[in-house]
Amino acid sequence: MFPTIHRDVVCTFCGCLCDDLEVTVEGGRIRGVDNACELGAHKFTTEGRLKAPIRRRGGVWGEETYTAAIERAAEILLDADRPLLYGWSGTCGEAQSVGVQLAEILGGVIDATTSVCHGTSILAIQEVGHPGCTLGQVKNRADVILYWGCNPIEAHPRHMSRYTTYTDGFFLGNSHRDRTVIVVDIRRTDTAQVADEFIKIKPGGDYAVLSALRAMVRGKDDMIPPTVSGVSRQQLRRVAAICKSAQYGALFFGMGLTQTGGKYKNIRNAIELVDELNRHTKFTLTPMRGHFNVYGFNEVCTWMTGYPFAVDFSRGIAWYNPGETSAVDLLARRECDACLVVASDPAAHLPRSAVAHLADIPLVQLDPYPNATTAFAEIQIPVAVTGIDAEGTAYRMDGVPIRTRKILDLGYPDDRTVLQQMLERIREAKGR
Ligand code: SF4
Repeated sequence: MFPTIHRDVVCTFCGCLCDDLEVTVEGGRIRGVDNACELGAHKFTTEGRLKAPIRRRGGVWGEETYTAAIERAAEILLDADRPLLYGWSGTCGEAQSVGVQLAEILGGVIDATTSVCHGTSILAIQEVGHPGCTLGQVKNRADVILYWGCNPIEAHPRHMSRYTTYTDGFFLGNSHRDRTVIVVDIRRTDTAQVADEFIKIKPGGDYAVLSALRAMVRGKDDMIPPTVSGVSRQQLRRVAAICKSAQYGALFFGMGLTQTGGKYKNIRNAIELVDELNRHTKFTLTPMRGHFNVYGFNEVCTWMTGYPFAVDFSRGIAWYNPGETSAVDLLARRECDACLVVASDPAAHLPRSAVAHLADIPLVQLDPYPNATTAFAEIQIPVAVTGIDAEGTAYRMDGVPIRTRKILDLGYPDDRTVLQQMLERIREAKGR
């Protein structure tokens, strides 16, 4: 059999959602991936998926049929008084939408990995707005790029080659000559090594440095002390001048800003810095979203409930109060009594106090691969991977929806189908 080359395939690993991959499929397997970074290529070529649903009885794993596994998963969720439906950033919008319906009918809480990454960005955006733009605009127009608390060379490896440092744009004929890249971080990362200007700040010093830059952009240099969080006034003055004189500036930020001291106040301050810069030039701000469709969850959840994440249906209506209704807080308070995990690995990334409770409650997991959370699960149902053997819609870090394709069939059901079957069983049991 001849190999088939699929062109313009979307990589469903990180929030860049690169849509120019070439994937070679032969004999029902992926034989090669071109144009992807190492992370993306690894996603397409990783093997070791579960062959069938597994269930643990008395500490011993055994295989189940899909029908029996879905039946048991529905039972677990129906038996719970306060189920938590968590994860969602590694699946498509269509599956996320069924997840919201499940949470509503169960009177449970639905939350995504957003609450431990860019939830703070959303809180700030709700207060002061989002001066955003598309990545295409950045590529074609931005002559000043500011990376704050993020390290795209490691976390979003093609961000710089597709949109900033290493690619020319319509209005930038020579990216190396025409773009200035500034990195702000607490350590000299790989991205900082290739920047034109590196601002090394003391841990927790983001808010103060943002405030100092805001004051300087406003012309209040005289109020700034000789150093701010380890950064000299001279350097801050230089950076403020670069930003003010940009034709088009783009600030990207990551968890080095969203999850450090100040949290959402940092993001609010960053947005207000961008606002201040917009009195002089055009400046935009974009969160560097990690999982490929974490942005999509916020969109889907907002359309359906009015809230972007951490939505609690226990009162019969949707309400949200991050810090109270978010997954980490519910788990740490040992409040939820069952958990459905979809396309995520909370055992690997949530704090210990939250993970400890996962070990004490029935847990159902939908994931193609075994991971750290499998050790806590009663049932794991393997599903197709969005963008490989399932299609679906995902949102890039700049909010642009992108349709991902199915490029081979391995016989697994997709997340949406499995969740829909659970929903039907639950509706039947509740007579709705
Ligand atoms: S940068 Fe992200 S989306 Fe692009 S190929 Fe790498 S992992 Fe995939």
